[in-house]
Formats: sequence, C-alpha cells, structure tokens
Amino acid sequence: MFHEMPVRTRRRSELVDITADIQAIVERSGVKDGLCHLFVPHTTAAITINEKADPDVRRDIGETLSKMVPEGGGYLHAEGNSDAHVKSTLVGVSAFVPVRDGDIVLGTWQAVFFCEFDGPRTRSCLVRVMNTG
Ligand code: ZN
Repeated sequence: MFHEMPVRTRRRSELVDITADIQAIVERSGVKDGLCHLFVPHTTAAITINEKADPDVRRDIGETLSKMVPEGGGYLHAEGNSDAHVKSTLVGVSAFVPVRDGDIVLGTWQAVFFCEFDGPRTRSCLVRVMNTG
C-alpha cells in the first residue's frame, strides 16, 4: 500500500512530528505485520526518529545542525540554500519503522519527525506499508 502524505511546514527550519499520520496510514493499509517505509522526495528536507517527550530535544537537534552547517557558510550553490541541502544529506531521506499487530513499533520516547530545512512549504512524505507476514 502506497500513500503520498502532504506535510505543511511553518518555519524555515523545524522538526514536525508526523507519527500520528504514519500510524493512521498503517491502520488504513490493513497490514498487521510488516514494515513501513518512509521516503522524503526533497533535497532540502529529511526524516529522522528521535525523542518526542521533551520538545527541547527536537529544538536542540535543529539548532545543533544549524551550528554545524550555518546558513551563510560561503557555499557555491547560487540558490542560497546549500545549508539545507547539506543538512538533508546528513540526516537522510528515508527510514523504516516496524509494524506489529497493525501498529507502528517505536520506543517509548520515540517519534517520527519530518525535518524541514528550507521552509515554510507544503512538502510530501511517501509512505509504503509492506506485509512481511
Ligand atoms: Zn538549492
């Protein structure tokens, strides 16, 4: 089962919790045991799984990436968003989440975050739910 999920971002750089949307897609797929593959078809966005319990963690991740890869870093790319391209590559554009008994399986403190690095925009995340039996 394949689904293209829209993701609306509101700042230039932010981590958006998309866990509930992914869970809803998995439920609609009817798959009980399998894998959920997430793919971000963008060059200035990414996906990661990390802590949701303390919202400061997602801010720390975003701010640490911005310190590592500053916006005005003297890049060649004339569009002016090379920092966002580099962050996308560092974080990565795909992830797998296990599916068990019809639910995505995450650790107690984990959530799935869409990472925006050059927003705000309407983005998409491609979700494929696979039955592995
Ligand atoms: Zn660019």
